[in-house]
Amino acid sequence: MAQAPARAASAVRLFDAHCHLQDPRVAAVAPALIRAAAASGVARFAVNGTSEKDWHLVQQMAEDHPAVVPCFGLHPWWVPERSPDWMNSLRRFFAETPEAAVGEIGLDKGSHGKTIDFGEQVEVFQRQLELAKELERPVSVHCVRAFGDLLEVLKQTGPFPAGVLLHSYMGSSEMVSGLSNLGCYFSLSGFLIGMKSTKAKKMLKSIPLDRILLETDAPDALPRLDNVAVSPVPVHSSDADTEKRHIDSESQAANASNESLNHPENIHIVLNYVASLLEMPESELAELSYKNATKLFSYPGSKVQPEAEGI
Ligand SMILES: [Zn+2]
Repeated sequence: MAQAPARAASAVRLFDAHCHLQDPRVAAVAPALIRAAAASGVARFAVNGTSEKDWHLVQQMAEDHPAVVPCFGLHPWWVPERSPDWMNSLRRFFAETPEAAVGEIGLDKGSHGKTIDFGEQVEVFQRQLELAKELERPVSVHCVRAFGDLLEVLKQTGPFPAGVLLHSYMGSSEMVSGLSNLGCYFSLSGFLIGMKSTKAKKMLKSIPLDRILLETDAPDALPRLDNVAVSPVPVHSSDADTEKRHIDSESQAANASNESLNHPENIHIVLNYVASLLEMPESELAELSYKNATKLFSYPGSKVQPEAEGI
């Protein structure tokens, strides 16, 4: 067959390599989001905790949903709020949840990140990288305006045979090979749409094909493109009691605060955008990114099983 037949969106397999469905803005509707995204072909969701306050929510979500891969980590924005016992608490979560990966952790010198002591960010980041190495788990890393520091810390702490996922990668093409040599994967989100397309294209083409991942970072990173309709997050009426927590998007009044929230189903928009810049068929990018994520997340103890090599 010269050309594969066009496939319906539902025939594509996708792996949302980084999201936060435990986020309080969407937690109440997360089962509906997971169901809808799964029906569109999203087979897995790596759900990342961000602080001691939400690790138990991630743990519960992974128990409730076979498609959810739990990740526990202390995000740089929450470094100042950590308790003196945070590392022991983190270790307890890994002991209780052997299928978990590490994340979201990282370094941030962006507008909010620069208000947080950078020395403390580095210390907290490094300790969690060491934990990921000790546990032989992949680690999901956030980096904003700190790629030089990131490279230095990863060099000091690495290599990382279990892999490092650079979430929502927006670094330069020049950084790719150095990071790739240290075991990094490059996970692309809707934020990429905000990068100049010529620069994004150059960066994407510099990523080895076996290191490309796709993510939504939902409920953040809503992919905004002209003439592309996004899947809206249904509104959950806060007074509904848990007995009849039933989401009927039609009956819900539009809630302005919901309009910026990202649905994991919007990974199809990321797929479409990245495929267009890479000049690659969507189905090919879907399949290769799915395989890459499956490889990264199929560490011993994980819910994700490695796929047989070759087809
Ligand atoms: Zn994130």
